[in-house]
Amino acid sequence: MAASEKKDSNDTGDLTRRNFVAGAAGAAVGLGVARPAYARRLPPPIPDYPFKLGVASGDPLSNGVVIWTRLAPRPADGGGMAPDDYSVRWEVSRTSDMGDVVRRGKARARAKHAHSVHVDVRGLKPDSEYWYRFMVGDYSSELGRTRTTPGRNSHPEKLVFAAVTCQRYNSGFYTAYEDLVSAGPDLVVHLGDYIYESPGGGARPDPLPEAITLDDYRNRYGLYKSDPALIAAHQSAPWLFTWDDHEVENNYAGLVPGEGTVTPDPVEFENRRAAAYKAYWEHMPFRRRAPHGADYRIYRRTSWGHLADFLVLDTRQYRSPQCGGLGPSCSPEQDARREMLGRRQSNWLNRRIRRSHADWAVLAQQVVFSRMDFDTGDGEWYNLDQWDGYPAARDRLLATLHNQRPTGNIVLTGDLHASCVFDVLADYHDPDSAIIGTEFVSTSISSKDSRFLRANLQHTVATSPHFKWGESSRRGWVKHTVTREEWRADYRHVDDATVVGSPVQTATSWVVPRGGSVTGV
Ligand code: FE
Ligand code: CA
Repeated sequence: MAASEKKDSNDTGDLTRRNFVAGAAGAAVGLGVARPAYARRLPPPIPDYPFKLGVASGDPLSNGVVIWTRLAPRPADGGGMAPDDYSVRWEVSRTSDMGDVVRRGKARARAKHAHSVHVDVRGLKPDSEYWYRFMVGDYSSELGRTRTTPGRNSHPEKLVFAAVTCQRYNSGFYTAYEDLVSAGPDLVVHLGDYIYESPGGGARPDPLPEAITLDDYRNRYGLYKSDPALIAAHQSAPWLFTWDDHEVENNYAGLVPGEGTVTPDPVEFENRRAAAYKAYWEHMPFRRRAPHGADYRIYRRTSWGHLADFLVLDTRQYRSPQCGGLGPSCSPEQDARREMLGRRQSNWLNRRIRRSHADWAVLAQQVVFSRMDFDTGDGEWYNLDQWDGYPAARDRLLATLHNQRPTGNIVLTGDLHASCVFDVLADYHDPDSAIIGTEFVSTSISSKDSRFLRANLQHTVATSPHFKWGESSRRGWVKHTVTREEWRADYRHVDDATVVGSPVQTATSWVVPRGGSVTGV
């Protein structure tokens, strides 16, 4: 084993306590630079309860986890804080009565980061449950529950996690999250479209304009994250997460804005992407330091002992421009050099796949990976925003998987606003080629399905042997239960996400036995 593999090699980032948790000394130095000692004063009192966006934890390791909060008395209206930095106290306990505090400290809620607080808590025990809270002035946050991952050489018996995506605020209520919380998963994996950049009609009002500036995006997170069910879901477990397009703009590709954009100018779009990425970072329990500019690495790995390797991907930031929207496939000449992940991320992923000895390798990503051809009576059509628009890039990744890990591969997908189960084939040009994995597409938490999908999905399922099941009319989430012997997916569907308190049930369950392919149970 290479030396670089010896450390806890979950490559989730570079934010260290030294960098980020300004202790007493760090804070004093910071203040000293900002204003001379004689002018030092306390920041103004906070006008109202500042923890309205709750608390969150994420990017768990075997010895630590990132805990997050943001001081925001008026979350959807500029935050409501004075333009000062504040010192926030935090503590982590082994018990839910906070009676057994094992770590505590102070962190700066910086005005330039929207008074968000990210603490990379270390020195925790593997595979253990913890509770945490934040305090500022006389205010105390609610408690969050989190956990560390099992140690990297351990063989955990079981992992239960939730896969979620696409939570357009105006379209529906977050009933799926209420159900998720009662299931008590070890981990929540968010596959993108955490916010939508623009408002719309539907079940509840979204009074905010389309987001272009940093303040616009912050207000959108303020609105979305005020939802009590979303807060409860963050409080209940650590999250892993990646973004899709709507955290910036619908169907953008790299630095090319989407069709119908309000920011067509390239410089304007680059600034917009930088604002969007920064606001995302400010609102997520992310280990890496704040982004500067329009580039930000979010792809990373998290391991659950020997049971599962989560390879969290970014299929937006580095992709080549789309060759169309919904339509016939791109020409092969156009396609061969086009990238979905970009060179660097592809090299990283190939290396990770090659080195993964976990029972299950999990590609946590955004858009549908499997071939999905729609017979519209006008030839075969594809959604060219999906991997179907980048078939050569898909072929390259499939070849790596087929050669390096011919079984035990799971693809988790969001974006579609539909529930789907696919066999991942070694070669989508050959329907008889080997099955090398399973793709589970999570339906949206609240976003509506498209009319096109409703009209065409069942025909596509019926005519594609590798497409096992698909359903687009329901919102919900997927409960994944993972053991060495078996991967089980339970599709939890909300009857009607546009009404409060609608019932939730398991619509269908699928099982992948070790070394085998998926079947409905
Ligand atoms: Fe979406
Ligand atoms: Ca999307």
